[in-house]
Amino acid sequence: MSSQANKNKVKDHEQPTEHTLRLAELPWFESILAKLKQAYNDERLAHGLIICAPKGSGKQAFARSFIKSILCQKSSATFTDFCSQCKSCLLFEAASFPDYHQLERLTDNKGKQKQSIGIEQIRQLTDKLADTAQLSGWRVALITSVSDLTTASFNALLKTLEEPGDKTLLVLLADNLQSVPATIRSRCQLVLPKLNNQSLLNWLEQQTEITDQKQLQLSLQHCYHAPLLAKQYLLNGGFDIRLKLNQLGDALLLNQINPQIFLEQVPAELSIDQIILWMTDYLLEVEKAILSRSGNQHYMQLNPKLPIQLYHKLTDYLRAQSAGSNLQPKLQLQSILIQWYEAGRKIIQLSTR
Ligand SMILES: [Zn+2]
Repeated sequence: MSSQANKNKVKDHEQPTEHTLRLAELPWFESILAKLKQAYNDERLAHGLIICAPKGSGKQAFARSFIKSILCQKSSATFTDFCSQCKSCLLFEAASFPDYHQLERLTDNKGKQKQSIGIEQIRQLTDKLADTAQLSGWRVALITSVSDLTTASFNALLKTLEEPGDKTLLVLLADNLQSVPATIRSRCQLVLPKLNNQSLLNWLEQQTEITDQKQLQLSLQHCYHAPLLAKQYLLNGGFDIRLKLNQLGDALLLNQINPQIFLEQVPAELSIDQIILWMTDYLLEVEKAILSRSGNQHYMQLNPKLPIQLYHKLTDYLRAQSAGSNLQPKLQLQSILIQWYEAGRKIIQLSTR
């Protein structure tokens, strides 16, 4: 694929809603941003940054805004938030900035996204980073998901991190650090947003106009403390849907409904995969309730290992599915629902004997 085609590919994957955010709209990055600005002004910005945060925390928006600000002509002496008006900003917005490279998985000729970012893509990238800069002097690359890199791809990146050119910046985005080899980690600065304080709840309240603190707190938990995800979740009624599903899960355990009625009563907009994801969370919550001896009394009469066994069955299925297996999602879900219903039946029969 030619580099022009690559560039177009990159553009296709952009999600404008996330990318138009300004740095100030992501306050959980505020303290780390202050440190990065200082390092930039002191000319000691690390050559490699790993931004690690869950999906829906705005890390890609932050990375792009930060990079756009560095490339902005107003930042030539001291760091200034991007202006959106200079030549650099306009080129960046049009995905035509010649010294900025955004790397993601390519799509094959059948339109299917490849499983990983291959070594060839990394080699092309490191060559470009080694070239003389065409504009502001900075050469920057953003790799939007490090978990897509293969071992060979990581090794190909190492050289750039070990012998970086002047004004070269490599930004890697990671949902978690497990996917990043120690050799890469040790050569990069880790960028972690603050995702667990009261200010996040205040932000969420302001954004959604929902004042119920318990609801805000639970929504954050349900969304792995990813603020943008939690905002969407609340605004799209995700919290209420989850409550409804939890009630259905409990009703199934109490044999008030059977698996077929469960599936009929699930909100119609949910896909089977979404229900499976909910079910994994629900089973973990039940397990937690058993361990802390709180919650629905029927949970305490269950075989304490059952929720986690069913949870593992579902996560095994999800793993197989992402590896491309042809397992039928509905059959997988039905099998778990039946086991949940049967477990409840045992409890009820024992308690009425
Ligand atoms: Zn600008």
